[in-house]
Amino acid sequence: MAEAEYVTKTLAICIQCGEPANFTQRLTKDERQILIGETDIYEARCRRCFKS
Ligand SMILES: [Zn+2]
Repeated sequence: MAEAEYVTKTLAICIQCGEPANFTQRLTKDERQILIGETDIYEARCRRCFKS
């Protein structure tokens, strides 16, 4: 589980442009496994706005 990007299974709206978001942008540089309760370090983004 070292993937930097995570494909969402639920429809979300890109926080950058408002398009349907298929990705979540990880907002931390910490590459360790996500701890429970740290969902706020992700932002919903579309493919175009997603930065890996
Ligand atoms: Zn976008």
